[in-house]
Amino acid sequence: MNLSLDNLEKLLTTRDPVLVEDLFAEACRVRDEVYGRKVFMRGLIEVTSHCKNNCLYCGLRRDMHCTRYRLTKEQILQCCRTGHELGFRTFVMQGGEDAWMTDERVCDIVRSVKREFPDCAVTLSLGERGRESFARLKDAGADRYLLRHETADAAHYARLHPSEMRFEHRMQCLRDLRELGFQTGCGFMVGSPGQTLETLKKDLQFIAEFRPEMVGIGPFIPASGTPFEHEPAGSVELTLRLLAIIRVMHPRVLLPATSALGTLHPQGRERAIRAGANVVMPNLSPQDTRSLYSIYNNKLATGSEAAESAADIRARMKAIGMEVPTERGDFIG
Ligand code: SAH
Ligand code: SF4
Repeated sequence: MNLSLDNLEKLLTTRDPVLVEDLFAEACRVRDEVYGRKVFMRGLIEVTSHCKNNCLYCGLRRDMHCTRYRLTKEQILQCCRTGHELGFRTFVMQGGEDAWMTDERVCDIVRSVKREFPDCAVTLSLGERGRESFARLKDAGADRYLLRHETADAAHYARLHPSEMRFEHRMQCLRDLRELGFQTGCGFMVGSPGQTLETLKKDLQFIAEFRPEMVGIGPFIPASGTPFEHEPAGSVELTLRLLAIIRVMHPRVLLPATSALGTLHPQGRERAIRAGANVVMPNLSPQDTRSLYSIYNNKLATGSEAAESAADIRARMKAIGMEVPTERGDFIG
């Protein structure tokens, strides 16, 4: 399939449904060639809602007056126990940039999880840190790190973040993670305020060059109380096309059907799988903290139990002819 810059523009903007279907079919074909018809499950554990940053789009930004929480190590282990029982073999610990999450604390949590679940992968998504810090987390046993670049265009980055947050630093973090041997994930929101076809092309170019092991993309969804609360949500259709393009460009990438897609469309995650995605991330966080981790409005499955959301997503994947194996689902290099 032709993925030259000119053709990318056409694929992103065309109104021809046949062209779009061809793109999705090609994406599934290349995915199946590498990974088979498998969707890998990751258990998401939202470990802290405290954040020192003030990203303009996010419902957990520093300036939001909201109830904040941190999970204890024991609570996190309990989530993993539930998850392991349900067949999860990857745990993703995500949170705001929380100074309380010192290297010592995170390393202790990672070691405890790896000790109790040696057959599982640990993914961290705790925002930007220094190279030394990332190195310690790696030594403690963390396998993967998700840090969306948010946009590959410096001017656009500056529109989404306060000036104390630096585009260059975020990109440096990604390079450090890669060099330290993490399976590294970047990604961006689709339809974030100020995003254009040009900035999207830069995102795709960045992914083509960086060749991350994972790419997380989902539509932007406005969050009440943030500077972007009245901005329109991103497009589901455009997100699906971008997923498919990323798959075709980089056949081996692990590509989640994000909850943000599921939030905007009742069949959003199924449609993402049909566009070439191969990962789902049901929530394993304790029931009472889910609604407090409100990155955007109407977040999916707030309040439902881990077992329930895992069973729901399994059934959805099987209904569209995909297997959901009990395995770590590492990047195939
Ligand atoms: N603090 C960490 C991880 C938690 S935020 C970090 O920022 O990397 C995880 C992701 O949620 C962010 O990377 C961002 O892309 C996404 N996100 C934040 N606000 C959002 C919104 N309003 N709509 C959709 N996605 C959002
Ligand atoms: Fe904090 Fe991440 Fe939200 Fe930014 S996107 S405010 S770093 S939780």
